[in-house]
Amino acid sequence: MRLTVLGSAGSFPGPESPCSAYLVEADGFRLLVDFGSGSLSSLQRYAGLHAPDAILLTHLHCDHMFDAVLYVVVRRYAPDGPYPTLPVYAPAGAPDRLSAAYGDDGSVEDVYQFYALQPGTFPIGPFTVTVDRVNHPVETYGVRLEHEGRSLCYSSDTAPCEALLRLAQDADVFLCEASYLDGMDNPPDLHLTGREAGEAATKAAVGRLLLTHLVPAWGSEAHTLESAAGAYAGSIDVVRPGASYDI
Ligand SMILES: [Zn+2]
Repeated sequence: MRLTVLGSAGSFPGPESPCSAYLVEADGFRLLVDFGSGSLSSLQRYAGLHAPDAILLTHLHCDHMFDAVLYVVVRRYAPDGPYPTLPVYAPAGAPDRLSAAYGDDGSVEDVYQFYALQPGTFPIGPFTVTVDRVNHPVETYGVRLEHEGRSLCYSSDTAPCEALLRLAQDADVFLCEASYLDGMDNPPDLHLTGREAGEAATKAAVGRLLLTHLVPAWGSEAHTLESAAGAYAGSIDVVRPGASYDI
């Protein structure tokens, strides 16, 4: 499978990146995982306006889902007619939340076919998908995608937790958030530091660590990388929009 980063900025878009969005492709099927603010632009630049065959939203914080609201216009009002409904796997509140954000007192369920996430394993296209609740203030799912013996784990937003380690166990690639800076007085049960991302990578024995969701302006890539490298001996990179990884 192939991972393409569309957006990697944590919490709000940065000058060089939209918020979280990742396109994962296998057998010609493209799953968009998260659809954060600004990433609809990257979708067109790096994949195509109608590239996604399905969408998975890990949670309903704006920096992970807001462009799914704008995407309603793209599907519903296409010049060549409305596009078929698109499967969206998301927390149960997604239909109401997206409809409220869109406005017009209407529903977005003519555009999206929603499937409520719950912990477990299920197929999406060619992928075997496992999701589990992670440690974040709203209903949030970490994700493991498997295809033909290869595996990608995506932390979504989380503080350290056992579910994250289970999802990441022996993953070929671990795409992990590192929002916080080590050494700061960080609120609990919200996010990971670089060191905590590295510790999770080591405990789960992953093949490669990709750091994401660093917060623009407030963060420090060098500090985060150094902290992660102190806790994980394998390959570490900070991802950027447009970067692709064959897994
Ligand atoms: Zn969040």
